[in-house]
Amino acid sequence: MINVTQPYLPPLQEFTPYLEQIWKNKWLTNNGPFHQQFEAALCEYLGVPFISVFSNGTLALLTALQALDIKGEVITTPYSFVATAHSLLWNNITPVFVDVELETGNMNPANIEAAITDKTSAILPVHVYGNPCNHSEIEKIAKKHTIKLIYDAAHCFGVTENGVSICNYGDLSILSFHATKVFNTFEGGAIICHSKEMKQHIDDLKNFGFRNETTVIAAGINAKMNEVQAAFGLLQLKYVDQAIAKRKAIAELYTKELSNISGIRLIINNSPLTINNYSYFPVFINAELYGTSRDQLYEELKQHGINTRRYFYPLISDFPMYTHIPSAQADKLPIAQLLANEVLCLPIYADLEEADVLKIISLLKK
Ligand SMILES: *Cc1c(COP(=O)(O)O)cnc(C)c1O
Repeated sequence: MINVTQPYLPPLQEFTPYLEQIWKNKWLTNNGPFHQQFEAALCEYLGVPFISVFSNGTLALLTALQALDIKGEVITTPYSFVATAHSLLWNNITPVFVDVELETGNMNPANIEAAITDKTSAILPVHVYGNPCNHSEIEKIAKKHTIKLIYDAAHCFGVTENGVSICNYGDLSILSFHATKVFNTFEGGAIICHSKEMKQHIDDLKNFGFRNETTVIAAGINAKMNEVQAAFGLLQLKYVDQAIAKRKAIAELYTKELSNISGIRLIINNSPLTINNYSYFPVFINAELYGTSRDQLYEELKQHGINTRRYFYPLISDFPMYTHIPSAQADKLPIAQLLANEVLCLPIYADLEEADVLKIISLLKK
């Protein structure tokens, strides 16, 4: 079986010295030496000023909303992984869904202003599949209405535009280092911020709100990354460029072979300024033109041992805890509905063999 992704793992024996060091230190969590080194190494690798690592991306999202004291309503996208909107519900915030762009699946800035009310406190867009949102337009709107901007950049590890990390946009950006992401620490995540004070605040929040032994500044949570994860992250960083280069070669092969097939649409990022991470390879199947529906294709590929995934189907707004929300109604989100019904993410990961890519391509062509 070929799955849509396979986690990247460095050579096992290279991890042993890190574990020996942890056994020697007897410092397992709470901002230990590997945690500190990992944060410093990430700032350098990503080109971001401040980062706070987390035990997973969802806790990073939850904490980002707390750190900026977000309340009321938040404008977000239905075309994402459920964690994006769940982080709002867990903070007692009402998600307000707006429709997305056909070309990328990212939030369409043209739909944001009409969704702003006197309860709106933030915008929470997602750079879907690692393709940058129209962040300059979104930022203009956030500034004009003095509302906060938090990016769910879970797919964006290593993505840059004009040499600038995409994680530098917004008041805060969050990353995920989950096993299925381009860069993993088994589970893990991070918040990127722009000041020492904000990093301190986030670090306090992820450790129960403790500022020091006797002072608790807020009802924080436990979202700390442990030393094993942090050490593993340091080792993974040595291999991530190599892993992304292998993904790039696969993405280029898919693009070359699938670009001119009637009924198959790809996301084409033709900005020469963007460096992508090839985290996903979505194709959009127009049943009429292609002659087979997306779901039939999904089943047929499965019968050939190819496990594709329909990211993001169903839309978040169609899950039962969201359907009562006025903005979740399907007729308000036609583009997102269309993408959800057409999308199929093809296998892409560093160790995927070229022969397997060619097999998938020939199955799609038949
Ligand atoms: C993976 C993902 C998350 C959640 O990250 P975890 O580390 O799995 O908690 C959030 N948002 C998006 C868009 C994701 O893809």
